[in-house]
Amino acid sequence: MKLNTLTAHELIAPLDKGDISYIDICNSIIEAVEQKDKKLNAIAHFDKAAALERAKSSKGIPIFIKDNICVKDELTTCSSKILEGFRPPYNATVIEKLLAEGAVLMGKTNMDEFAFGSSTETSCYGVTRNPWDLERIPGGSSGGSAACVAADEAIFALGSDTGGSIRQPASLCGVVGLKPTYGRVSRYGLIAFASSLDQIGPVTKDVEDAAILLKAISGHDQMDSTSVDEAVPDYPALIKKDIKGLKIGVPKEYFIKGTDKEVKQAVLDAIKKLEELGARCEEMSLPHTEYAVAVYYLVATAEASSNLARFDGVQYGFRSSQAKSVIDMYKKTRQDGFGDEAKRRIILGTFALSSGYYDAYYLRALKVRTLIKQDFDKAFRKYDAIVTPTSPTPAFKIGEKSKDPLTMYLSDIFTISANLAGIPGVSIPCGFTKKKLPIGLQILGKAFDEETILRIAYNYEQATAWHKTKPLI
Ligand code: GLN
Repeated sequence: MKLNTLTAHELIAPLDKGDISYIDICNSIIEAVEQKDKKLNAIAHFDKAAALERAKSSKGIPIFIKDNICVKDELTTCSSKILEGFRPPYNATVIEKLLAEGAVLMGKTNMDEFAFGSSTETSCYGVTRNPWDLERIPGGSSGGSAACVAADEAIFALGSDTGGSIRQPASLCGVVGLKPTYGRVSRYGLIAFASSLDQIGPVTKDVEDAAILLKAISGHDQMDSTSVDEAVPDYPALIKKDIKGLKIGVPKEYFIKGTDKEVKQAVLDAIKKLEELGARCEEMSLPHTEYAVAVYYLVATAEASSNLARFDGVQYGFRSSQAKSVIDMYKKTRQDGFGDEAKRRIILGTFALSSGYYDAYYLRALKVRTLIKQDFDKAFRKYDAIVTPTSPTPAFKIGEKSKDPLTMYLSDIFTISANLAGIPGVSIPCGFTKKKLPIGLQILGKAFDEETILRIAYNYEQATAWHKTKPLI
């Protein structure tokens, strides 16, 4: 068995026995990257010699990090030209936590520019391909993390999720992706897209690894005033309990027209399986769901326009050399440094926040955001969890939606509400289409109750074999 194909928890026993070494794992990852990544383009920054050097001096599992999470002295560019050459002077808190566990940082994964997107087509390094079908997108914006884990170029990886960017690519690549509760994981050192929505989370080959990685990166951090001082449960141990008697809601708004037939069927089959395992599933309603996409694209772009104001050629990365004055330098740097989607969002967000429109757009969006949150508050008084499809369709063809931002924005119709409400969600494999494209099941939970959704996910995974099928790349 090749080591790169294993999970972290599968590697523990042979490591303990001394049958394999940490360097062996690293070597097998490097070999896989060299073999496959020319085709996939999942990795944005990779320095083989440096990775091996780090492996020699630490005892831990190798990990890949999304390119928007700061790693001291290593390229961190959000896959944007405007951060060309940027090497942060400090580590994100999640990186400090991983290093404390001995993890070996292997490199950075490709992503949509500044995490704007659902297909990893807007990266300045070019599109990442889906390991199940190289003509298709891997989802986004953490498409690089999902593709490298699916293709066994990694044991596991970190992604970030603002409106679905961990769960949707996990779904489209057939891996596990978890967005934690807002405040569970420190955002310190995560280059901000939309500060009230962003969370860092694990992308893994199975649920147990997601539990291990979540435990490692969670916890209160003084450097992030929105991180919450809640005890971190022992997820890997707790998820193994059965799910008998759990009440699961199935929101009717998530089975709308436009959802792919094969996706719908796979999710309905998964719900049946959960019932066989002892859960009670029941149709229910989240009445404000239809407004989620509109609300998200006002809130997220408003925050993005503000967060991206700092990239002006003065402090970070790229600076235009064509400028004749300071103002000209700001303008030319931003003109040449940002891609089209980043510019679209800056314009949209600035408009929504501008005086005269603020009340009509931004403020109204915040009010509807509260209604969406209240839908969940009410639902979770009755249900322990909610299950839905993760994405309305399987992976689409490269180029299919990139000319039409509105259709692209609908890719996250089922994932966005969780970010608006701040609740946790996980996507796990639940089937394949006839064309052999992965389908994902989303499980949403109460704030700070990652334990229950991981427990449902674990029990489902143990009873099925979807996560064991690998792409032929
Ligand atoms: N696809 C959504 C967007 O384009 C979500 C992205 C994300 O979660 N970072 O904004």
